[in-house]
Amino acid sequence: MSAAAKHCEPVHLLADLRELKLPAFAEHYSRVADEARRGHRTHADYLADLAHLEVTGRLERRIARRIKDARFPILKTLDAFDFNAQPEFDRSAVLELATGAYIDDRANAVLLGGVGTGKTHLAIALGIAACQQGRRVRFITAAELTTALVEAKAVDRLSRKLEYFARFELVILDELGYVPFDRAGADLLFSFVTRVYERRSLLVTTNLAFGRWSEVFQDATAAAAVIDRIVHHATVLQTGGESYRLKDAKRRGARRKEVAPN
Ligand code: ADP
Ligand code: MG
Repeated sequence: MSAAAKHCEPVHLLADLRELKLPAFAEHYSRVADEARRGHRTHADYLADLAHLEVTGRLERRIARRIKDARFPILKTLDAFDFNAQPEFDRSAVLELATGAYIDDRANAVLLGGVGTGKTHLAIALGIAACQQGRRVRFITAAELTTALVEAKAVDRLSRKLEYFARFELVILDELGYVPFDRAGADLLFSFVTRVYERRSLLVTTNLAFGRWSEVFQDATAAAAVIDRIVHHATVLQTGGESYRLKDAKRRGARRKEVAPN
């Protein structure tokens, strides 16, 4: 390439790249061209390098968008989950869920355990893993979902709201059992579960053993129907033991005592 061509930006290039929605081409073409020239690489290699940068950038932006759309209350990862804190916990089942295969199968997952045992942490981490696979995920607490459905019904938009949630491949329903629903709320949650059953995946976290779900749904038949649909194709994992926060606080307390024994 002549010196003139090297320093002169091709006419319309940036505008055309913008029109074609190729931001990585626009950002990197000049630098990658210099590198290709220095490395005596072919035009095809140059084009391949730029195309790869574009694809990688697009993938990263899509993952970031999926994570934002999921509305996680906080970001947690599997790497940050201390599996040793619960030796009896089924780690391989969690890693299997992290592959997202259950979402392809339209199956569900239930994380069952006491307060502070890592249910929400794991649910978010599994949600992020699904986002990284490019899947559409939505995190919501059971109480928020019920309120959203009650409000939608009040303005005659229930089916639109159910449609909105059904767009996500995985809905994470956090904290089922913390707040009991009234009859109308329980009915709507039942409509939701029926709507997504075998079409979408649900990941439910709950502090209540199935035998006690009738307390939240205020009706044994409704509870049984919901459990039946959720558990029909589900991996059920029990997070056990003492609250991690409590254990962590005790550990820190013990360390402080070691440092200052008085
Ligand atoms: P739950 O939803 O079961 O009440 P959380 O997932 O909110 O509990 O956990 C409470 C806190 O303890 C969070 O900050 C979480 O990141 C942390 N935590 C719980 N279990 C673990 C664990 N095994 N490894 C690392 N952090 C944990
Ligand atoms: Mg929680």
